[in-house]
Amino acid sequence: PVTVGVLALQGDVREHLTVLRTLQVEAVEVRRAADLERVDGLVIPGGESSVMDKLVRLFDLQGPLRRRIAEGMPVYGTCAGLIMLADTIENPIVGQQSLGGLDAVVRRNAFGSQLDSFETDLAVPALGDEPVHATFIRAPVVESVGPSVEVLARLDDGRIVAVEQGPLLGTSFHPEVEGEDRFHRRFLEKVRTAAASRR
Ligand code: GLN
Repeated sequence: PVTVGVLALQGDVREHLTVLRTLQVEAVEVRRAADLERVDGLVIPGGESSVMDKLVRLFDLQGPLRRRIAEGMPVYGTCAGLIMLADTIENPIVGQQSLGGLDAVVRRNAFGSQLDSFETDLAVPALGDEPVHATFIRAPVVESVGPSVEVLARLDDGRIVAVEQGPLLGTSFHPEVEGEDRFHRRFLEKVRTAAASRR
């Protein structure tokens, strides 16, 4: 059995805990470094990445999170969580830092105020034939990726909205608010693989 954490400083923590628990894993809130030590993988929720970054640093979690990511801990970031994983943030607030790990440039608030939020059906071949109903809320997009990053989904206009790089998974949108569990299942496979190789 594996234990999965949800970074619980800010954002839609509860929705992720609910999806994870329906998938029958032990899911716990992570607020301090000691919580992080007991998890095999971590979800970074949607919310506001600039606030999340400030809280991460205030709670002395930046170093521990970066270390676990560097050691190969599986992480799934949705929306603000994807921004936290990006090596480079476009359109950050002044002084905003990410955790990094994902070799990608991610643009905050990429859709502008005309299109603050929208829903669409996305083809995600890695998850099967059934499209993903995706909810975008002041969402980021992935502007470019390095060679080790796999693109899992694009909008019709070609913009990248789901990526994977080894143990890291990121989506611009929020499957957790739709009862869509296939990204979480895919993430849990990574968590189980990583945990098995550590034991
Ligand atoms: N705009 C938010 C940010 O910059 C992300 C929005 C979301 O997580 N739904 O972090």
